[in-house]
Amino acid sequence: MVINRRTFLALPVCAVLAVAAFAQQSSITPESLRVWLTYLSSDELEGRATFSEGLGLAAAYIAEQLKEAGVKPGGDRGTYFQRVEVLGIKSTNRSTVTVEVNGQKRTFKDGEGITFPRNVGGKRTLTLNEIEFAGYGLDLDANYNDYKDLDVKGKLVVWLGARGPHGTDPQQARRLLGGRPSFAIEEMGAAATITPAIESGGQRRGAAPNAPDFTTVRRLDSLVPPSITANDDFFEFLFSGSDLKYEDLKSKAEQQEDLPKFSLKDVSVTFNIDADYQVVNTRYTRNVVGIVEGTDPELKDTYVAFGAHYDHVGYLQTPLRPGQTDRIYNGADDDGSGTTALIGIARAFAQGPKTKRSLLFVWHTGEEIGLYGSKYFADHPTVPIDKIVTQLNMDMIGRNKDNKASESNTVYPVGSDRISSELHKILIDANASLPTPLTFNYQLNEPTDPERVYYRSDHYSYAAKGIPIIFFTTNLHSDYHRVTDSVEKIEFDKMARITQLVYETGRRVANLDHGPVRDFKGAHLAVGTTAR
Ligand SMILES: [Zn+2]
Repeated sequence: MVINRRTFLALPVCAVLAVAAFAQQSSITPESLRVWLTYLSSDELEGRATFSEGLGLAAAYIAEQLKEAGVKPGGDRGTYFQRVEVLGIKSTNRSTVTVEVNGQKRTFKDGEGITFPRNVGGKRTLTLNEIEFAGYGLDLDANYNDYKDLDVKGKLVVWLGARGPHGTDPQQARRLLGGRPSFAIEEMGAAATITPAIESGGQRRGAAPNAPDFTTVRRLDSLVPPSITANDDFFEFLFSGSDLKYEDLKSKAEQQEDLPKFSLKDVSVTFNIDADYQVVNTRYTRNVVGIVEGTDPELKDTYVAFGAHYDHVGYLQTPLRPGQTDRIYNGADDDGSGTTALIGIARAFAQGPKTKRSLLFVWHTGEEIGLYGSKYFADHPTVPIDKIVTQLNMDMIGRNKDNKASESNTVYPVGSDRISSELHKILIDANASLPTPLTFNYQLNEPTDPERVYYRSDHYSYAAKGIPIIFFTTNLHSDYHRVTDSVEKIEFDKMARITQLVYETGRRVANLDHGPVRDFKGAHLAVGTTAR
């Protein structure tokens, strides 16, 4: 892939000079970003895989830049590092579901007609009397939405169909079908979900006796909304009191015909969550954490958090194919760009004007293999989690989407309006204050985004705790997760401007006398694309 030189030339010279002048005030410059990223994405770091020597070198390098600029350690015992324990867990699951229809009761055990996920969280009993049949359980687009006029908050949601309704793009449907439980719970606020088991399923694969059932960095006593799969026998009983019988609904779903939506009357479902967990494997990795203290005696105990992930996917360990010469995934954009921007922001705050609130900088580990660093931090924070008023996350902010020159001014903010409308307004104002404001494209913030980006990067670990977040990215390109994601393709001028935007947004929040108001209105403001 050739670097897109036209992008740079397309910017008016005056704009470039104005950016440089503004950026210098806070020491966030294309030149310094280039220096840090050139090292972090070099072959020497071997692609920064989690649990690798390359990632260790990156951690030490970041800590060095923090120390030199006077950013304080925010990790364990006065260090810049927070140890992240990645646990392999064997579970003994005795969970059951009891269904009561018109006074008749049946109990189903895990593995006998129903299947729980391996990690069901902490022990508890959850009875739900409000049960909605949501057709296919899909929100495809403006033309097809099973959740239209359907309120499932705090309820149990059930759906059918392995292919979605007639006429939907099979590729899109396939992707969304697998995401139905998380869509219902995370996006729509459901308390639990039941999905029909896929016909061929049922028996679990036999594994080595001490092989972990799952890997986690989370607390095992957290309450997890139940999401189970169930067979025909279960569904027949569940629908036995309804006017519409399961058999008919199932055959409609198989024919991809329209499905009705209705509440199941006189039915209650009790989830009895009961599992024991045994740690059979422990591995260590680390987050890098820095703090710049605030100046206000009262507000300094509260934090604006900034984050990026400094891990990547490592290097090819298998023999190179003929013609292949490179085995190292440099991850310059993913997420060397966010990592480097975060160094710039931390140093700018440490060396420049101070804010009223304190500032927390976390370089997350293990993002590529399951958001380990951010999940761990959210469950084991080094500052009180309820004192974090906002989290700003950056992942891949150094390129143009699909290498298009038309994208040279565009950034994709995600989530800014979902928890706090006020935070969204602060973002807009911060952008307007830049010498050359960026163009915002909110496409990835749409609730129907098939990639469900809002739920898939480190910021979500914070959002799930109710913390207002903004995720910044310049979106994907053809070098994504390839050995060709390298430093010479980074658009450093654009990246410096995005870094400046994140700095400025964070600065404004850090000087507010109150945390951004959490009104939880969902994605309703950040839509479409802003004009310049
Ligand atoms: Zn990434």
